[in-house]
Amino acid sequence: MESRERTPEWLKKRLVVKSANLSATKKILAEFRINTVCESALCPNLNECYSRNKATFLILGPACTRACCFCSVEKGSPGTIDVKEPERITKAIKSLGTRYAVVTSVTRDDLPDGGAAQYAKVIRAIKALSEDIKVEVLVPDFKARQSSIEKVLDAGADVFSHNIETVGRLYSVVRKGADYTRSLMILKLAKYIVPRQITKSAILVGLGETESEVGQVMTDIKAAGCDILAIGQYMQPSKDNLPVQRFVAPDEFERYRDLGKRLGFKSVMAGPFVRSSYMAEDSYNSMEGKYNDGSEVAAVGGRG
Ligand code: SF4
Repeated sequence: MESRERTPEWLKKRLVVKSANLSATKKILAEFRINTVCESALCPNLNECYSRNKATFLILGPACTRACCFCSVEKGSPGTIDVKEPERITKAIKSLGTRYAVVTSVTRDDLPDGGAAQYAKVIRAIKALSEDIKVEVLVPDFKARQSSIEKVLDAGADVFSHNIETVGRLYSVVRKGADYTRSLMILKLAKYIVPRQITKSAILVGLGETESEVGQVMTDIKAAGCDILAIGQYMQPSKDNLPVQRFVAPDEFERYRDLGKRLGFKSVMAGPFVRSSYMAEDSYNSMEGKYNDGSEVAAVGGRG
């Protein structure tokens, strides 16, 4: 694929960065040897999020066993699991003053449970620090192993997230090693196992999909019972990643927001810089609607 367009004006991010906060966040993350997806994935929001003391923790090592072409996270053979990782993360959370923690990981196809047990330990460690801290986990597909999904759900995260990332037609190019139907199955299973579990997903646009295909993937994600959706512009993180095929204009994002509301998502964020973890707390707090059993979502949060 070749890049077709120059970066438009709306993608030139103008920021007032609080540099003292930014350095403090970096220092804390370095002190506790925390990997973040913010840095590993070369996220365009890093300065903004770090200057708000926000970061997304990347567990289970820095190297991923898959090689998705849109992602710049290091690929290769991951190391052994660090048993001290949950403790290091809770120390960082304490120092950062985090009230809403977002935890994700590399894909660990080398582990029999895909890393689910480590997710569970991290969630439990954060909740042991304070029950008031909300935890959102963004998990890999665990090859749709129900036992792995159950292990994570049992630990009691407030939001269980799995990103569909792109439309089904582009999986063979963008997400080699993943499967569209299997990824939807993760969301379906989570909702099936714990009907009151808040679930979330995200997609990136600008990878070669059409607007109607985005509508279809949104419909599929909703049919999987998903509550929160995030849609953002793909930006090529490095020259080794797929080039951008199209810069999606703000009015198209607005149409996705409108469609998301019509489809019945409890919260939809759509915009050029939106990522799954971007403003995750705001996205969680802005949920509207009811659980499957009819109770209001805002009153409960997480599993009931
Ligand atoms: S959007 Fe998410 S991944 Fe990007 S910098 Fe913010 S917290 Fe990190």
